Amino acid sequence: MLPRACRLVLACSGLLALGVAPADAREGSRLPVAAEGRTGVVATESPAASRVARDVLAQGGNAIDAAAAAVFAISVARPQSCGIGGGGFLVYRSASGATRTLDFREAAPAAYTPQTLDPPGLHKTFTGHLPVGVPGTVAGMDAALQRYGTRSLAATIAPAERLARRGFRIPTSLVGAMRQNAARLRLFPAAAAQFLKDGQPYAPGETLVQPELAASLRRLMRGGPAALYGGAIGRRIVADMRAARPTNDPGLLTLADLEAYSARWLAPVTGTYRGRDVVTMGPPTSGGVAIVEMLNLLERFDLRKAGQSSADAIHLVAEAQRIAWADRNAYLADPAFVPQPTAFLTSKAYADARAGEIQLERTTAHAPGRLPAAAGARASGEETNPNGSTTQVSVVDARGAAVSLTCTNEQEFGSAVVAPGTGILLNNELTDFSAAGTANEPRAGKRPRSSMSPTILVEDGRPILLTGGAGGSRIIMGALETIINRVDFGLTLAQAVDAERFDSQGTSTLEIEDARVDPAALASLQARGWTLSRLGEYGVRPRIQLAGIEPRTGRTAGVSDARSDRAALVPRAVARR
Ligand code: GLU
Repeated sequence: MLPRACRLVLACSGLLALGVAPADAREGSRLPVAAEGRTGVVATESPAASRVARDVLAQGGNAIDAAAAAVFAISVARPQSCGIGGGGFLVYRSASGATRTLDFREAAPAAYTPQTLDPPGLHKTFTGHLPVGVPGTVAGMDAALQRYGTRSLAATIAPAERLARRGFRIPTSLVGAMRQNAARLRLFPAAAAQFLKDGQPYAPGETLVQPELAASLRRLMRGGPAALYGGAIGRRIVADMRAARPTNDPGLLTLADLEAYSARWLAPVTGTYRGRDVVTMGPPTSGGVAIVEMLNLLERFDLRKAGQSSADAIHLVAEAQRIAWADRNAYLADPAFVPQPTAFLTSKAYADARAGEIQLERTTAHAPGRLPAAAGARASGEETNPNGSTTQVSVVDARGAAVSLTCTNEQEFGSAVVAPGTGILLNNELTDFSAAGTANEPRAGKRPRSSMSPTILVEDGRPILLTGGAGGSRIIMGALETIINRVDFGLTLAQAVDAERFDSQGTSTLEIEDARVDPAALASLQARGWTLSRLGEYGVRPRIQLAGIEPRTGRTAGVSDARSDRAALVPRAVARR
């Protein structure tokens, strides 16, 4: 579809040929099409995984069944982003409105200390055995299925096992990741054998077969999570941690660490935004707290009147980010180790106290809020790796139950380690810890702070927007902006994910997809003290997946971000594309 401005102005055709929307266009040249139906929807950035989840929905499976099946399929078909060697977070809302969140984040081995990652070594390049945390995905999906699913773990893994055994056509995105990570993958023979062909990246459309991963998936189908958390798969991983061949960078993960792991059910972080309920994920991710804090601040301003893509609206949102980022960087970490000021930071009273700091004329630096008690008030430290990988799964089922789930290996292709004989790519999540002495310092058993932001927005008792995405610390603003686009600017799901993104990372430099923003608005932002980092029409991250029930029609809709592979699907019988 043409950007709205171009449907009226034929002279835009030259710009479109260059893939650039004009500065006054609201819709970009890659505006996605929403998948709509009445029996559920799934949005991921893996076509193979979305097909698996769609089939689960079509066969009467619920949102948890479909999301878990999608995650296992992503482990096979989008291995660079997320897998059974990684972890993540899940936000669940039942059809009747019960909410719960699940933390299946990776944990540090018992031998970890605040200084473990200090000495030089391969881990400084986000690679190798040392930054591997206890994988959480299998425990997480098992816990989710046990509590809310209708399918067995084995049945949920089965489609992924078939994909690994029979192979799938390699999408361009995976080829790109293979190319970018070929040198890292070549360090580890089992990884090179699995993801490279004679040491070189595959070509798009070739078939990737992963027999050792298929065998591990069959072990999990037969033996359950115990096959990993102490069983045959776990023993192979631990043996590789010790041998660390050929890189000689031993990891600290032991069988006892695997046996001790469990996913954690947590109460969600909640808030309201202009009459809608926000249900999101709390620490150890910083995403949900930052989102609710920013929404509370922004509720005090009339963004709709300011106008979509206006200098005032962009400035106010970015300014709210600078306040929330100060708090995020100072306080947020694993709640099992550091008392978290979640209730304080997400309260309306806190927003009342701080909204007055926002000046419309000028961007300013903001200090972290003063907590009522000093407990836990230690700096969390800066980002060590703001880009990374990750992926989002958004599912609504026929009854209206909703799952917003984000999972990751941390870096694209994680640590690049595949333990021989397992086919399982291991995470490098522990690089998300910060320096010793900070709230987010490494500790035995601790889970590092994340930016993942799976969130559900509820209106009149219905989940109207499931959001979340990939892209390291840029995930948070990507998710926030889709909420604002939907609520304040009244955009459709497709428009909400397509609209321009911006992110200050808490500084006075504003990364902005500038091609659709009026030059006068950009100049006004500069006049307010922002240094612009211009990204053109579409940046490469964050990559967001949306789903929800359309309030007016009651139909489910899903849409995938055009900044990545698009795979929003509804069960076939009701598809309308
Ligand atoms: N490790 C990151 C986090 O938990 C996600 C990976 C990424 O996209 O950077 O926030």
